[in-house]
Amino acid sequence: MTKLLKKYDVVIIGGGTSGCAAAYNCAKLKLKTLLVEKNNYLGGLMTGGLVIPVMKSSVSELNTDYYKKLIKIAKKYNAQITYSDKNDGWLNPEILKIALVDLLTSTSTKKYLNILFETSVDEVIKNGRNIKKVILNSKLLSIPVVSKYYIDCTGSGEFSKKAGCKFLTDNSVKQENSLRFIVGNVDIKKFTKFILETDKDRDITNTNRDDINNDVSSDFELHFTTASTKNTDKVWALDKYLKLGVKDGSLKETDRAYFQLFSVAGAKGEVAFNCPRIKNFNNDIYKSSLSLISGYKAIWRLYNFVKKYFPGFENSYIVNIATVTGSREERRIVSQYIYKKVDLIKSKKFKNPVLISNYGIDVHSNKNMSTHKKDVTYELPVESLISKDVQNLFVSGKLVGAEFEAHSALRVQKSCMSMAEGIAKYISKLI
Ligand SMILES: Cc1cc2nc3c(=O)[nH]c(=O)nc-3n(C[C@H](O)[C@H](O)[C@H](O)COP(=O)(O)OP(=O)(O)OC[C@H]3O[C@@H](n4cnc5c(N)ncnc54)[C@H](O)[C@@H]3O)c2cc1C
Repeated sequence: MTKLLKKYDVVIIGGGTSGCAAAYNCAKLKLKTLLVEKNNYLGGLMTGGLVIPVMKSSVSELNTDYYKKLIKIAKKYNAQITYSDKNDGWLNPEILKIALVDLLTSTSTKKYLNILFETSVDEVIKNGRNIKKVILNSKLLSIPVVSKYYIDCTGSGEFSKKAGCKFLTDNSVKQENSLRFIVGNVDIKKFTKFILETDKDRDITNTNRDDINNDVSSDFELHFTTASTKNTDKVWALDKYLKLGVKDGSLKETDRAYFQLFSVAGAKGEVAFNCPRIKNFNNDIYKSSLSLISGYKAIWRLYNFVKKYFPGFENSYIVNIATVTGSREERRIVSQYIYKKVDLIKSKKFKNPVLISNYGIDVHSNKNMSTHKKDVTYELPVESLISKDVQNLFVSGKLVGAEFEAHSALRVQKSCMSMAEGIAKYISKLI
């Protein structure tokens, strides 16, 4: 659309993982759509949070068109690779900011979509159980907007809270947060050789080329993934190095909790860290800030540790620290149907499914709850994405109305995108 409208069919708050998918699909279905993003880039956790990869999950083709489009456009920007496990969701978080803009302003969407960056919601004005109008706040401007439907894709539920929705409080344990970072100028070949020799567990350590001992030509993009964690019964190959780091004072004991590294698509020499884990105090800003302080200190320790112990990191340096804190769970909305753990385990069927996945329960906690299993295929009903309290409000992404453990399975990126695609189709039938 060439100019801002006063009235939309759909206003989407949050241009992250699911918000971009919702905006793309609504516009493609010819709904007059406004996407409101508080940052100056799209992608949310996928870009600002440095969260890679898109976990390999769905076994079915339900609502996966947007994901396929995203992979196609990421390929165009050399911001995607496919691993030997056939997961094609390894993306470059920085270049994805450009690819997402390209995707959302493509010919099939640009006629129906407005995007407002650096804009948030000031006020939600209701008429009974309906949202009548929202007042957006962008720099020095106050912008009133009216829409038939609203989709909260903020992850934190900031918009739903302003609209007076309730949230689930069914669990006292929270998923841990992470503050992710990227290190550059790593000799990937040298490090990959080292981990392939050190860690024979091919579920954990993986590359896109197993015959590493043969010469890898300079234009071949070599990739690896590896990890170590201490909260299971398993002996992890890299843990002996982490223990040495703790012994010589380079690391703290807490740094051993979760340690995961992978190279970055389209960025030769860059390694992304899915750590350090930091405590989740999302309901206490003071403790939350202390937690971030501990995260920055841990990044410095981890960086110096890899430089000291891992061949290939000798001349490396930190190139990026996530500008979005990695919160796996913030709020979960009280939806028309609260999705249960038993629904997932028993593969319950629903009349209006928005996604079909087999990504298992995956709780990141220091209390031995990492129960990641991948054995059932399950459905999520659209009713878990419809607010119980406000009639014209939907949610998508990690705000989904689900029990704690069920949520830990549903929150992965591909599922967040399928939810958004499903919601867009559902709304288009209502209009
Ligand atoms: C540390 C970590 C590791 C993970 N690892 C993986 C993994 O390996 N693979 C995988 O598939 N999934 C992984 N996940 C899960 C997955 O990344 C998230 O659950 C998913 O990206 C959430 O998508 P979302 O759309 O709900 O939120 P987000 O992507 O966070 O998007 C929310 C958007 O809303 C915007 N916003 C917030 N408030 C406002 C407001 N008031 N006004 C306007 N805009 C607003 C934000 O700026 C952001 O752009 C991980 C998550 C974390 C935290």
